[in-house]
Amino acid sequence: METDLFIAGKWVPASSGNRFDVLDPATGDTVASVADGGEADAIAAVEAAAAAGPGWASTPPRVRSEVLRKAFELMTERSSELAKLISLENGKALVDAKGEVTYAAEFFRWFAEEAVRGEGAIATAPSGANRILVVRQPVGVCVLVTPWNFPAAMATRKIGPALAAGCTVILKPASDTPLTALAMAAILAEAGVPEGVVNVVPSRSSGKVVSAMLRDARVRKLSFTGSTEVGRILLAQAAENVVNTSMELGGNAPFVVFADAELDAAVDGAMIAKMRNGGEACTAANRFFVEEPVAAEFARKLAQRMSALVVGPGTDEKTQVGPLVNEDTVAKVDDLVKGALDGGAEAVTGGRRPEGPGFYYPPTVLTGVPADAPILRQEIFGPVAPIVTFTGEAEAVRLANDTEYGLVAYVYTGDLARGMRVSEAIEAGMVGINRGLVSDPAAPFGGVKQSGIGREGGHDGLLEYLESKYIAVNW
Ligand code: NAP
Repeated sequence: METDLFIAGKWVPASSGNRFDVLDPATGDTVASVADGGEADAIAAVEAAAAAGPGWASTPPRVRSEVLRKAFELMTERSSELAKLISLENGKALVDAKGEVTYAAEFFRWFAEEAVRGEGAIATAPSGANRILVVRQPVGVCVLVTPWNFPAAMATRKIGPALAAGCTVILKPASDTPLTALAMAAILAEAGVPEGVVNVVPSRSSGKVVSAMLRDARVRKLSFTGSTEVGRILLAQAAENVVNTSMELGGNAPFVVFADAELDAAVDGAMIAKMRNGGEACTAANRFFVEEPVAAEFARKLAQRMSALVVGPGTDEKTQVGPLVNEDTVAKVDDLVKGALDGGAEAVTGGRRPEGPGFYYPPTVLTGVPADAPILRQEIFGPVAPIVTFTGEAEAVRLANDTEYGLVAYVYTGDLARGMRVSEAIEAGMVGINRGLVSDPAAPFGGVKQSGIGREGGHDGLLEYLESKYIAVNW
């Protein structure tokens, strides 16, 4: 497969000639090396995107739509090989990687359908003097920065709406998982994306490369998915040129189980909310709040299911939980669990990092977690479920909101009115009621508080790449 930069429709080496290694998280071995883009390469990509901008913006929406539709079809045809590639560089189990390819391809299909719904607005001014006409125009050149945890879906969730809206893009993928991004570029080129419309610049100096692009006045939009910490830095940099931003940042999702919930359904939902992607998801349930009368039974059932999971290399068909992405991530999970155990928590299952190669951490359930434990404050990003008990609706809401994050929350209850009440009271951009999965290309995905700004997916996702232009008309 291609391992160079993709700029102006061509595969090119980094101008420095440098390359960096991509590792297999199951072994720590090198699986490929990729061109290491620098600032000059990033600016060349901006140049290409700026040059392609007017042509793409004036391409009929139907044509843009059909290119995206073709990309959807190519991804679907090649789902097995793409899933293997994701699993190889990210470590996730093949079953999760296949799920990701389907999810990722759906963004191309959804935005192929949105591309032709170019609505605007017209109204009579309140004074009656003129008409107010609103047209939507593409924002322009977009810098897209993605994380390693969903290397395909986080790219298509941005490229799909950007292309549908008539924008051109430079994708800077996470340096742990550049291969999937390059495979996406090849698919888009094959689908008929003209040169310069999509550029991909992997880099080991992400900070410098992204800053250089944000300093270039031709860049009009930054769409970032990643940690809140990096998001904050990029918001400050984007402020310099008043660049339009969409920020999908970290989460600390509460998973609330009321005593009136159907407990087995809650455990099923917990397994999805916690273990999709081995826990490496911004939507992962991070804090389990279970009402006192059912807490012990919930913990027992969850521990039973967690301990039965097959842990192994992601690329092995039998594996249900792969290794974590890298050494730093597994070390952080280990520290958070040790901190909770030292503070008095008990590991009902798991809780200890295994010896040997690879970045493995066992599925773990913790009970009796102290309220001030860092594991309840930070994103775990691993297969660990800390359980805290509560009594009554007010306490559940208070605990759920006791975080600076606000991406997603899950609520299990047999009383839909309570589910709705609690959903409205929880400070989050998304809530799943009696569901452990909310992600859907047709729905607006995003957070409040320090989980971000803006939405991806749904119709809102398209609007992030469009400017409203108001034209006052007399006629
Ligand atoms: P990260 O460290 O913030 O990195 C995200 C991206 O930013 C990567 O491409 C990274 O490149 C790049 N980057 C790092 N430092 C940068 C800097 N100073 N300037 C510009 N770019 C920089 O996050 P991650 O560890 O890859 O991903 C995990 C995080 O993403 C979690 O917090 C998770 O919650 C969040 N996430 C959020 C959503 C959502 O939709 N809300 C979805 C998925 C993940 P390098 O790889 O080269 O460092």
